[in-house]
Amino acid sequence: MEEKKVLLLKFGELFLKGKNKHEFEKLLMNNIRRKLNGYNFSLQYTSGRIILENYDEFEENIIIQKLKTVFGLIGVAKAVEIDADYENIKKFVSGIKISGTFKVVAKRADKRYPLTSVELERKLGEVVLNSNEKAKVDLHTPNTILYAEVRFNGKCYIYYENIKCFGGLPLGSGGEALLLLSGGIDSPVAGYLMAKRGLKLEAVHFHSYPYTSEQAKEKVIELARELTNYVDEIKLHIVSFTKIQEQIHMNCDAEYMITIMRRIMMRIAEKICKKENLGAIITGESLGQVASQTMQSINVTNSVVTLPVFRPLIGFDKEDIMDIAKNIGTYETSILPYEDCCTVFLPKYPVIKPTIKRAEHLEKFLNIDLLVNEAINNEEVVVIKN
Ligand code: ATP
Ligand code: MG
Repeated sequence: MEEKKVLLLKFGELFLKGKNKHEFEKLLMNNIRRKLNGYNFSLQYTSGRIILENYDEFEENIIIQKLKTVFGLIGVAKAVEIDADYENIKKFVSGIKISGTFKVVAKRADKRYPLTSVELERKLGEVVLNSNEKAKVDLHTPNTILYAEVRFNGKCYIYYENIKCFGGLPLGSGGEALLLLSGGIDSPVAGYLMAKRGLKLEAVHFHSYPYTSEQAKEKVIELARELTNYVDEIKLHIVSFTKIQEQIHMNCDAEYMITIMRRIMMRIAEKICKKENLGAIITGESLGQVASQTMQSINVTNSVVTLPVFRPLIGFDKEDIMDIAKNIGTYETSILPYEDCCTVFLPKYPVIKPTIKRAEHLEKFLNIDLLVNEAINNEEVVVIKN
């Protein structure tokens, strides 16, 4: 009887509908290969599952850790692969030691298989009971769950535990977008959430050196590096905002300072998108969190661009955002105390309900096109790879 240790990879079914199915699966397999570059393994595809085999056993846990962050995978199981004919499965299961309560969960993906899932569960349950004196069936709160999956490749996969992955859609399946990355807690989380929906990322950071420090910039590079655990690579555009801020400070109403800053950030972001062929802008805004994130403020900043702006955190509480930041590993860097450019020249009372009309009027005192182009022409680009 041939037995082989493998990893059984499960992916979400949602994106498998329609004619994109094949493309998505191919992308997912390529993403797995890229993530595990440098490790020994091979992949086998069988409808509904990917089998990772021929790996070094001492690398198993590190491989599983890496697989968790491959978007599109929903679970991984350490499994034994055996031939799927019933006598063979029976022989294998009769050798399994179980004491205490258990249940069998069987899945017959291949409907040509002579036993239904329920029949397989009953029969294998009996096999376990016959070969383990102390085993007892408990369908509701068993100590042990024994999974048996018969797949289309004529194999059965036996395992005990499903290790959860991050889920989502395969990276790259949705195209590529530009993340506005500050040094705060929110924007890295926003980038992560959109990457999870299949978007590759580039990022732009605005700094106000020398009003902000060199460390503030390093911190943002570090955040981008942490995000590459999920997206492999980020091209980070580092744009100086110093002159723009000085100009706004000198020429515009203090209470509109942040509104106009944001509008210029959006214009620069959109230009970078056009240049780099990116389909959307991503921000970490959350409704009502600060004056610049009221519905009216968002309307005024949004109105200068035509590309879609994705704000995945719009309905999230700060607590929930912090939980995700901790979970994805960006929190500790985000709370380092360096200043963001938005804190320079910060007005005491920023406008809470700005209007487009007033913003447009104030902007007449600035040479916006010149400032935007100058900022982009002087950008510094860092490509960060995982
Ligand atoms: P974060 O925690 O992401 O810094 P925040 O709560 O500080 O967000 P704001 O300062 O109002 O909120 O910024 C809102 C969004 O604008 C950020 O999430 C980010 O996407 C973008 N943003 C703000 N400052 C910068 C910056 N210096 N460079 C690039 N993007 C920025
Ligand atoms: Mg911030």
